[in-house]
Formats: sequence, C-alpha cells, structure tokens
Amino acid sequence: MDKLRKIAMDYYELAPDKVKDLAEEFYDAMDYDGDGKISPKEFMAFMREQGFEQYRDRDFFEELDRKGRGRLDFKDVMTLYYITKSGRPFCEGCGELVTSMYFTCVRCFQNSSTPFSLCPACYINGDFEHRHRFFVDNYTMLETQRIENLVARQESEYEQAPSRSSSSSSSSYSQSREIVAVSQGSSKKQNLVYSFKALDAALKVATIASTTGTCTIC
Ligand SMILES: [Zn+2]
Ligand SMILES: [Zn+2]
Repeated sequence: MDKLRKIAMDYYELAPDKVKDLAEEFYDAMDYDGDGKISPKEFMAFMREQGFEQYRDRDFFEELDRKGRGRLDFKDVMTLYYITKSGRPFCEGCGELVTSMYFTCVRCFQNSSTPFSLCPACYINGDFEHRHRFFVDNYTMLETQRIENLVARQESEYEQAPSRSSSSSSSSYSQSREIVAVSQGSSKKQNLVYSFKALDAALKVATIASTTGTCTIC
C-alpha cells in the first residue's frame, strides 16, 4: 500500500492546479458531514454510490487508514482514488487487493463488466474456479490494447485514403494493410472497443504519465 500511496501522491504533486482542485472537490464530496475527515460510514456510502462494490470492505478501509485513526485523510483518499482509477483488482482466489502485477481472464476482461483477476500466487497455484481458461497478465493486456487500437486506427485511415498507384507501395497505406492482415489472422474479428473502466483508467493513467514525463515505476 505504501508504494501505491507514493504513486498517488506523485501524481497529485505533479498535476496541474485544476486537477488538484478537482481532487480536493473529490475529497469534499466524500466528506458528507463536512468535518474534514472521512469516516468508515462515509467511505462505504461513497463506494456504494459510485458503484465500487468490490472496494466496500472494512479491511480495505483499514488498509487505507495508514495512521489507524479510524478515518481517512486527504492522502488516504488520493490513494483510494488512484487504486480505483487504475483498476487495481481484488484477487478472486484469496480476496486480497492486488497492488502489483496480476493475471486477468481475457474473455471476462473484454466482455464482462466484472473482470476476473488473480494474484500471481493464486494463478500459478490454480487456487481458483472459473469457467474460462485463458489468462494474461495486466502488462500484456495493456500492450494488446495498444496494438489493437493502432491497427484499428490504421485500418480506418486506410479505408479513408484515396486509391494510389502501385508505385507508392512503400507508403504508409501498404504498411497499414500488412499490419491489418497480421491482426486479422491472429485475433479474428475481436471487438476492438473495450469499454470497461479498468482499461479506461489505465490508459488515462498512462496518458498522465506521458504528459508529465514522469516514470511512476522508478
Ligand atoms: Zn490471490
Ligand atoms: Zn472469464
């Protein structure tokens, strides 16, 4: 949790003032009674309202409450915000929050509003029951998304491009066609649009990282 807290606060410190203002608004929104701190009751109510049912957990609240005072301060809430926005999952095997690398079911990730994810130990030991068999780690899933988005964009550019003579075979259009051919051979007619929060969040986080030029891992 300490590592996540540091990443969350690094994001906050590097954010433009407007984003910092929004972060403070987010904190105030959780503080229903306006006493400057977030009680377990306020935390549970906010999680329910926002649809973060998987995070409505007393143990999770206590993990966030780094000073063990029974309430969350601004840094705790920024950590919570980062965890929800980056889609950190609870392991479906052992129930623990997975704070680093995890494995996720590809079918559920692409087609369900509730991804099925596992910590490395549960995945490797087979400590889970699930109807699908194909899992990848979160880094591979993100890279797959990146490639598929790239292919989709190039495919659409290719469709919109005017026809060209064969002398321009080294153009980007022919390169696009090659990439599309590879894609169709390997992933068939996969739906390229993932509309789920987890990946949306991951991409937003990646965007923030790229615009600030800061590596969040180092
Ligand atoms: Zn586990
Ligand atoms: Zn599944």
